[in-house]
Amino acid sequence: MRTNDNPNVMDLTKLVRKNILALAPYSTARDEYQGELDIYLDANENPFNDGYNRYPDPYQKRLKERLSRIKGVDSSRIFIGNGSDEPIDLVYRIFCEPGVHNAVAIAPTYGMYRVAADINGVEYREVMLRDDFGLDAETLLAAADGNTRLLFLCSPNNPSGNVLCRKALERLLTGFGGIVVLDEAYIDFADDPGFLSQLDRYPNLIVLQTLSKAWGMAGLRLGLAFASPEIVRLLTRVKYPYNINVVTQKLVLTLLDKDMPGQVETLKRERTKLLEALPELPVIRKVYPSDANFILVRVDEPRKVYDRLIEKGIVVRDRSRIRGCEGCLRLTVGTPEENERLIAELKAMPV
Ligand SMILES: *Cc1c(COP(=O)(O)O)cnc(C)c1O
Repeated sequence: MRTNDNPNVMDLTKLVRKNILALAPYSTARDEYQGELDIYLDANENPFNDGYNRYPDPYQKRLKERLSRIKGVDSSRIFIGNGSDEPIDLVYRIFCEPGVHNAVAIAPTYGMYRVAADINGVEYREVMLRDDFGLDAETLLAAADGNTRLLFLCSPNNPSGNVLCRKALERLLTGFGGIVVLDEAYIDFADDPGFLSQLDRYPNLIVLQTLSKAWGMAGLRLGLAFASPEIVRLLTRVKYPYNINVVTQKLVLTLLDKDMPGQVETLKRERTKLLEALPELPVIRKVYPSDANFILVRVDEPRKVYDRLIEKGIVVRDRSRIRGCEGCLRLTVGTPEENERLIAELKAMPV
């Protein structure tokens, strides 16, 4: 296992694939000229303005400035992707030589880390969380070797719902010599502040966040990666030049005015109500604590409960065939009315 001697300095060239280091990225027309002029004859666009005839800004400058203010992170540390899926795929393509390097991840967790590994021909090593879904840093470090380039962590974790132990995360950030990808898709629902403010301290850290959950923009596909300017430059060189379209860039700027904290407060109140109501129901065997906008519950016959809810017009996520989640269903926190319906239907269920 490699370790960081000096946590504030990192030789990225040792971790990046040679073809990526040598890459001459595609140069767009807007790379060659960036000012504002009257007449654009440089990109073979159709000149008749219908609002969409021009290519989008490949660097999403206005959007990054706005997100920079919201998140308190410099623009140079922000990468914007077509959903979190894009940076998840890109880190494999940048840091892992197929058939050579490997990734270590917690389990159970979000399925895309493995899918992206499989697509890229990268070995994916799962390390089970404890029975209470707690994180043990040493077992993760023990699964890594000299070819481990990526470590995938998710906090609050999906599907378990819990924030991972901060001390253990800090231990991994200093103890692991590769890139640590910490997925904070649900951090707005947690009381924990997450690691966005710690980017300066950990040059090997990539924090993933998304506009798909708390911000309510899953349909627009906007994922965020926060990291050192060096890592952000790498992600930017490898992405499709126009990965975020004109409509999304424009619409997101207006939607970021919405009362996200207000909606999150409502959902957290609803989560509390569900966490109180669910353990009282005969059909529910166990309710796991949650720092996210969903709750993992265990039942005796998950498929029966799932089908029964479908009959009643409610769809939840059956996670019972996932190792570590045997018997478990994942319930997203909905509107007050939706949650009442869910509780009523579960209450009426024969055991
Ligand atoms: C939902 C979710 C995301 C969001 O993915 P997008 O591609 O941004 O919609 C990312 N990570 C986890 C763990 C999730 O559950």
